[in-house]
Amino acid sequence: MLPQIKGFINQTLIDWEGKIASEIFLPGCNFRCPMCHSAHLVLNPSTLESIPFYAVRDYLREQKDWIDGVVICGGEPTMHAEIESLCSEFKQLDMAVKIDTNGAYPEVLESLVDKRLVDFIAMDVKAPVDDTYRAVAGVDVDLAAIGKSIALLQKGEVDHEFRTTVCSFFLDKSDIINIARTIDGARAYVLQEFKGGSCLDPTLNNYQSFSRDELKALAAECAEYVQACCVRGEAPRRGKFETRNSKLETPPGGRQK
Ligand code: SF4
Repeated sequence: MLPQIKGFINQTLIDWEGKIASEIFLPGCNFRCPMCHSAHLVLNPSTLESIPFYAVRDYLREQKDWIDGVVICGGEPTMHAEIESLCSEFKQLDMAVKIDTNGAYPEVLESLVDKRLVDFIAMDVKAPVDDTYRAVAGVDVDLAAIGKSIALLQKGEVDHEFRTTVCSFFLDKSDIINIARTIDGARAYVLQEFKGGSCLDPTLNNYQSFSRDELKALAAECAEYVQACCVRGEAPRRGKFETRNSKLETPPGGRQK
């Protein structure tokens, strides 16, 4: 069995730094982030048409000389019991696999890493790993699980990026520095600008958060703790760990979910 696929972008240059990728969207999420831009996938996935796996597979087979890998996004991909089978299918097609995750299921991530079914993990760190997390994730969060996922990526066995959508409604600047300290030594930390417009909580749709210049200044401070840090779309600032094998060589891609 494979998870249902509710969205497919056949080619993207912005969701995996340095790669031409296809991207699929899986339904459902265990979080209810008020800032989420994927309300349809999170709240009403059954209303969305499913895309048969064979259609994705056939496309990847046809384009295998051109497409480097597949980004598996959601919703939350790791809440699906069949995620390993799905990654395995892509691996059999010689595709690299990236997973975008909220980090709530560290055992799933660990198993994917151990079985070499994933090449890159991008993990949202929503807030400092304390009581703040609940407000930003919109649910009670198992903070120990978030801590385990962070620790797993910090081991460096899989290429990774941490990222935070910075909305001043929930987070102040000291919160972001606090997150950077928590992910100390990480290969990359990316600050994402908050964008309103279609948030799961519509009262945020017109909210104005930090300016881009404020975020760039924050990224410079965070670079003290990680190998590289930047605002999404800007060149990375090297941190004190820059002698390590940081992969953040060019402005990275990605989208605010
Ligand atoms: S932003 Fe991500 S983790 Fe949060 S509700 Fe949306 S899909 Fe789930």
